[in-house]
Amino acid sequence: MREKLLQKKYLFIVVLMIAMMSIFCGCGGPEQQETATPDDEAVTVFEEYISEIERYETPDGIFREENRYVMVDGDFKADIVYPVTGNEGVDREILSYVQHAVSRYNREAGGNIAELTMKYEGYIVNKQYMGVKMTGVFDGPFMAHPEDILKTFNGMADGGIVKIGDVIAAESREELIEMTADATGADHSLIDDGFLDNWNLTGRGLEITLERGKYGPMSDGTRSVLFTYAELGSRMTADIDTRKTIRNETTEQITAPADKVTVPELQRPDPDKPMIALTFDDGPGAYTDRLLDIFQEHGGQATFFLLGNKIDKRPETVQRMIEEGHEVAGHSWSHKELTKLTDKEIRSQLVKTNNKINELTGLTPVIMRPPYGSYNDNVRAVAKKLGLSAINWNVDTLDWKYKDADYVYDAAMKKLKDGNIILFHDIHPTTVDAMEQVIPALIEEGYQLVTVSQLLTADGSEIVPGALYYNR
Ligand code: ZN
Repeated sequence: MREKLLQKKYLFIVVLMIAMMSIFCGCGGPEQQETATPDDEAVTVFEEYISEIERYETPDGIFREENRYVMVDGDFKADIVYPVTGNEGVDREILSYVQHAVSRYNREAGGNIAELTMKYEGYIVNKQYMGVKMTGVFDGPFMAHPEDILKTFNGMADGGIVKIGDVIAAESREELIEMTADATGADHSLIDDGFLDNWNLTGRGLEITLERGKYGPMSDGTRSVLFTYAELGSRMTADIDTRKTIRNETTEQITAPADKVTVPELQRPDPDKPMIALTFDDGPGAYTDRLLDIFQEHGGQATFFLLGNKIDKRPETVQRMIEEGHEVAGHSWSHKELTKLTDKEIRSQLVKTNNKINELTGLTPVIMRPPYGSYNDNVRAVAKKLGLSAINWNVDTLDWKYKDADYVYDAAMKKLKDGNIILFHDIHPTTVDAMEQVIPALIEEGYQLVTVSQLLTADGSEIVPGALYYNR
């Protein structure tokens, strides 16, 4: 009896240990039952449609996550990647479409070897509209030719479904059909009510796609036409500011520079003379233009670490910075402490800001200042990938704290040294007041007032992506 009790107790402990081990090793999630394909990619085999879905974040997608649905039923195989957009209506439509497509093509395969594959493209336009275009192929040796699959979904970014009648004026519908038919070479006699069914607002314009074989010969393939927003003009009822168009908000690569603002040829600083970099954070603000006036009067350049979400309020000020030879760089989009964010969020904070600067000036900064100077290995890794290095400071004027021009002046002039990077905030009038004295005083002391990039490269050094600088 006692032995049996002990055995029971022992069994309980073993079970408990196994349970704990599986918790600690993080393998307590849904088990993957079988591997259906020979490649390394884990593919879960499902007994029933949509019984389980492989769900993962999409580092390169525009939506929060995407699902991969893989089903093997005898000789029929479906492999479908579709997004979770966050718009409930659109997500419901997509899921229902995927389910129906799987059962319909499985039925059509009728026990023959066949494969259904689908992927998608996603669009977010103006932060207002979002769309998904799913394309795919259904194919098998029993078929005369593969069947192309096409289906689009559209909604408002913050919820709700959007129909083409919501973006194109009713009286322009016929004209749009004509324009589409002409551009795609569609057979006019085949045009039906569903002719404009597959459309998306994209970063460049309205795209209309025609199913293969439906409005022309199969040999034409799937045809699409893109009408730019400018081209559509008043035919559009949707207000699309193309300058604000984003195709890929969170993961867009930093756009290539395109010259928009004339950048003056700056005199290279004399490497043998002392130099200091004055840096201004959190702007552009209400006093920034006055600060630019002071620089104009006395000479010298500065570096402005801007908040991305403030740039649209004062675009002329930012352009003026560039035109007058100052350096413009990012200080995150919304002053979030980057060390507390996920990699994806860090990336978004940095990329959005740089893209905003690029949009306005044609320049792409290679340096940035992390809010609060907070930097760690995560932030470093993201910054490095983006080709950005981080700039902190070795002289803090505490101008934000004391808001006193004399205090700021003393703090800036106290530890004068060649290679200093001094921190100010141009959003405080007292700081700009202080600069009336600081700028001429530094020049008087023999310092060249240079941008951070000039300071770090004056001796021929290169700025290293991912590296953190405090001074030179
Ligand atoms: Zn700041």
